[in-house]
Amino acid sequence: MHGIDSTVTHSSSSALADLGEFGLISRITAGVRTHESVITGIGDDAAVTALSAGMQLLTSTDMLLEDVHFRRVWHDPYRLGRKSLAVSISDIAAMGGSPRWALLSLAIPSDLPLEFIDNFMRGFLTMASENRVALIGGDTCSSRIGLTISVTVMGEQFPDRIVRRAGALPDDDIWVTGTVGDAALGLRLLERGETVSDELLSRLLDPNPQVSAALALAEAGLVTSMIDVSDGVLADYGHIAEQSGVGGCLRLDALPLSAAFRRHTAALPAVPYQLALSGGEDYELCFTAPRSDREKIGDCVKKCGIAVTRIGIVTSSPGVTAVTTDGTPYSAQTKGFNHFT
Ligand SMILES: [Mg+2]
Repeated sequence: MHGIDSTVTHSSSSALADLGEFGLISRITAGVRTHESVITGIGDDAAVTALSAGMQLLTSTDMLLEDVHFRRVWHDPYRLGRKSLAVSISDIAAMGGSPRWALLSLAIPSDLPLEFIDNFMRGFLTMASENRVALIGGDTCSSRIGLTISVTVMGEQFPDRIVRRAGALPDDDIWVTGTVGDAALGLRLLERGETVSDELLSRLLDPNPQVSAALALAEAGLVTSMIDVSDGVLADYGHIAEQSGVGGCLRLDALPLSAAFRRHTAALPAVPYQLALSGGEDYELCFTAPRSDREKIGDCVKKCGIAVTRIGIVTSSPGVTAVTTDGTPYSAQTKGFNHFT
């Protein structure tokens, strides 16, 4: 990749050290496919890309740290590679953009097996090709504190189709795609050493960014605000509310829960709404739209094969509440995953 500093440690006798920095880069980039928008890709000091005429650039970056965001015992390298890219693609989608280009930087412990890197890259590049994203550069160095993954994704969209968090209006419906709480429940079960079904596990380890639904909604001009659900629907809708200068009321009984979620929690005395509201890592879309467009929203998203559910109403008074079936306010314990609490 371009701009690579020679910081891979050569002193140890690991397979990685034997391969050397440039050997590693060749190995990482072996499966990279280019895209018509890439004028100069990996191999020069910087990449050159062309935006489509009239479009603006969208950029988002994420870091994944070993033992903070993932554990090597749970996250197999192939799905970790997919997820590393998926979480940033999800942010571009949430703006209504088409993801196009990615930068990948890795800080690699010197004892990491080469097969791990190979499988990680296989996953990363599969996710890239599924979403027509080209890897155009990055960096590698050695790490003494575990594997660190940094991914930047760039996308593009016409200015009038970009959807921001600000824009929700009082009385708009609040919608969410897919189901919520699955990844959080999967993680909770893993942490407790319990058996986890493949459905929950794949929601946690291999999230699917909702690019086609987001693009369809943005291009139809149907949504007033949008965000991807990474920290739980309560916290993420909270960001929409805050930036739009509104509030919201979410209905617990309307939250879309998967069959796997219901099956795993059937024996519990109460539905664990906490996980569905605040668990995080759903990577679904939460958006707002006028009530008059309910039918159009359903049709638009259905064409992408994605389910969509109305979960509440935007209020003019600030603050986001969740209510039970009989209208009693539900007091949430936390407002999503927060790194500093
Ligand atoms: Mg986001």
